[in-house]
Amino acid sequence: MMMYGWSSWFEQNWWALCAGNNLVIPAWLPHPSTAGFKRLELAGPAGQVADWSLPLMDESRVHIHEYENGAMLAHRDKHDPERGPVKAVAHFFTDTTLGKVTAAVAITSAIAALLYLIVRRIG
Ligand SMILES: [Zn+2]
Repeated sequence: MMMYGWSSWFEQNWWALCAGNNLVIPAWLPHPSTAGFKRLELAGPAGQVADWSLPLMDESRVHIHEYENGAMLAHRDKHDPERGPVKAVAHFFTDTTLGKVTAAVAITSAIAALLYLIVRRIG
């Protein structure tokens, strides 16, 4: 069960989360472990000591990085990788830095290959 503090925090910050912002979790909120968040085993390294995730109804999730000094930052992952392989791939390409770089390289290579084919046909 989610506690009252978190639901009002979500109401106030939902649009900022959807806009892709990293938000500081205020210290007065109960710890994610007591508010229905699940601890993640694997997450992109960003200097955090723990990762917490809460799946949302629109198939996204809220992802919290917890740091050694107790500070916590939250962001929204548009695709929750825990929901199966298709979602995991979508998460990798849209929500992770490595995925975005990989996608950019793949698109650039595809364009280069296409141009090569076109040039060969014209030439
Ligand atoms: Zn995330």
